[in-house]
Amino acid sequence: SKVPSITLNNGVAMPQLGFGVWQVPDDEATKAVATALEAGYRSIDTAAIYGNEEGTGKALAASGIAREELFVTTKLWNSEQGHDSTLKAFDTSLAKLGLDYVDLYLIHWPLPSKDLYVDTYKAFEKIYESGRAKAIGVSNFTVETMERLLGETSVVPVINQIELHPQLQQAELRALHAKHGIATEAWSPLGQGKGLLEVPTIVAIAQKHGRTPAQVVLRWHLQLGNVVIPKSVTPSRIAENIDVFGFELDAEDLGALAALDEGKRLGPDPAVFDVA
Ligand code: NAD
Repeated sequence: SKVPSITLNNGVAMPQLGFGVWQVPDDEATKAVATALEAGYRSIDTAAIYGNEEGTGKALAASGIAREELFVTTKLWNSEQGHDSTLKAFDTSLAKLGLDYVDLYLIHWPLPSKDLYVDTYKAFEKIYESGRAKAIGVSNFTVETMERLLGETSVVPVINQIELHPQLQQAELRALHAKHGIATEAWSPLGQGKGLLEVPTIVAIAQKHGRTPAQVVLRWHLQLGNVVIPKSVTPSRIAENIDVFGFELDAEDLGALAALDEGKRLGPDPAVFDVA
């Protein structure tokens, strides 16, 4: 496909653009993932808590696409943190997906108040050594939780998947990631389609390039070096969101987009979020 890959810090290649399936019910996930695979996506981002690993797995199996051409990410849910429970939860995810390995396994949230993420990650290191996850990483880690993890474990996470969009640009975390060779993956890259895509600056840049606001925002992520995983269940939007390799934002566009940063979170603050 035309989606470029980035090389993770352990040498594994990951498509820079993938398909997210949060809030897609299991029975609809099969169709949505099949549509995405047909449109050229090869990377799928699911999680145990999304409840659609089975539906996702069905679409992967039915696609006929060779396993090595797919990149499948899933995540450990908060309630399963801890060494032994992590090993069990990973087996369950693999079985639901119908796979014998995932490409990337992530700790979904650090839950600093539970203080289990270091033990959890040590179980991730065992899973990685076993070859059943080709890469391991984290999601929603803050500067503080990332620094502690790096200090107390040996496999540097390949990626940190965090909320990131033009209104929450995450400069501090991106700098920390760059320092340690950790890739930055943007969740809710389109700002969940609410508001962000109507911001006048974005609409104007879209008009200038004859593109849609969603395409401008995805292009911004790609040019910054972020991995993106936009979600849609609408076939035309699924196609639109991967059709972002035929144009380029210029310095003026990037400057205008940089000015939209306002620290606006759509999701929980990972420094305090502790729902299991
Ligand atoms: P998103 O930013 O991808 O926005 C998706 C929504 O935007 C859609 O539901 C639709 O309403 C709208 N949309 C999509 N394409 C559009 C287009 N071309 N034009 C207009 N509107 C469009 O939001 P998201 O689903 O929250 O995030 C993407 C993925 O990130 C998720 O599916 C999930 O895989 C992942 N995620 C991870 C976490 C985490 O804690 N790790 C949290 C949230 C999301």
